[in-house]
Amino acid sequence: MDTDTPLTLDHLKNWTFTGIPLAVLGFPIHHSISPAMHNAALAEMAKTHPAFSNWQYFRFEVPPNDLPQAIKVLYQHKFRGINLTLPHKIIAFQELEHIDATAQPIGAINTLSWTPDGYHGFNTDGYGLEHGLREDLQTTLKDAHVILLGAGGAARGAAIECAQRNCASLWIGNRTKAKADTLANDVKALHPSVSISTFEPTTPPDNLPPETILINATSAGLKEADPMPINLQKLRTTPKVYDMIYNPAQTQLLRSAAANGLANANGLSMLVHQGVRSLQIWSQKDVPVQTMRKAALVALNLH
Ligand code: NAP
Repeated sequence: MDTDTPLTLDHLKNWTFTGIPLAVLGFPIHHSISPAMHNAALAEMAKTHPAFSNWQYFRFEVPPNDLPQAIKVLYQHKFRGINLTLPHKIIAFQELEHIDATAQPIGAINTLSWTPDGYHGFNTDGYGLEHGLREDLQTTLKDAHVILLGAGGAARGAAIECAQRNCASLWIGNRTKAKADTLANDVKALHPSVSISTFEPTTPPDNLPPETILINATSAGLKEADPMPINLQKLRTTPKVYDMIYNPAQTQLLRSAAANGLANANGLSMLVHQGVRSLQIWSQKDVPVQTMRKAALVALNLH
C-alpha cells in the first residue's frame, strides 16, 4: 500500500492489510513525517527480528469530530499503535479509560497502545524533550533552571516534564501572561515544591540564574516573518537554547542564539525521541534512534 497518500476512515471499509498496522491521525496530516521515521525503524528492526517485516505505519486524515469513531474502528482492526497529532491530543485524552499516570496531569496524549481491555494512552512528548536536550545540548531538566516560552499544549507538557524531573526552577513567559499564570498554577498544584514564576517576554525577569535552559514552546518562528518569542540580548543569563520548532530548521531565535555564541538546537531531536518512545511502547524492543533521525532528515529534505 502507498504510505505517501493520507488515508481516511473510508479506506478501512475494504481494509486488506494482513500485517500489524500502526498509524498517525491528524487533521491535516499530509505534512507528517512520522510514517517515514517509523517505517524506516521497522525495516531496520526487521533485520534482527523478522516479525517486524509485517509491521507497517500508515497515516490517516481524521477530522476532530470523527476521532472517537476512528479510535473505535482502528481498535477493531487491531491497529497495534496510534500516534496523535494536532488537534487530537486532548480529545483522545477525554475518550480513553486507561491513561498512563505520567500523562494524567498533562491532559493530552499522543500515543495509544492496543491491549485486550482497550487502548492505553501515553504522552511521549516529554520523554522526547528530555532526550532531545540530552542529545543536542548535553543537558538535562533535572536540577536545571528552565525558561519556558509559551503556554499552549506543548508548553504544558514541557512544564509538567520539568516539574516531574525536579528542575531547580521554572520561569514561564508567554505573550498572553494570564495563560502563563494559569499554567504555573496548574503545575504548582501538582508539584508544590517546584519554584515557578511567570513573566511577559517583553520584560524578562532580571534575577535569572546565570546558567539556564531556554525552551521555545511557542509557534513563533514557524513562519519566517514571525517575531522572535524573546530578545535574547535582554536576558541576564547565558541560556542553552532549544527551539521545539524543527521546520524551518533555523528560526530567527536559533540564528540569534548562534550569533550570541549560545549553544542551540532545533526540535527535531524531540520529534525523533517521542517517536522512538512510542515504538518502544508498541514493540517492547530497542528502537534504532539514528535510523529514525536519518529518515526524518530525508523526509524534511534537510539531509
Ligand atoms: P498552541 O497550543 O497553539 O500554543 C501556541 C503558543 O505559542 C501560545 O503560547 C501562544 O501564545 C504562542 N504564540 C503563538 N504565536 C505567537 C507569536 N507570534 N508571538 C509570541 N507567542 C506566540 O501550540 P502548541 O501545540 O503548544 O505548539 C507550539 C509549538 O511547539 C509549535 O511550533 C509546534 O510545532 C511545536 N511542537 C514541537 C514538537 C516537537 O516534537 N518538536 C512537539 C509539539 C509541539 P498566546 O497564548 O499568547 O496565544
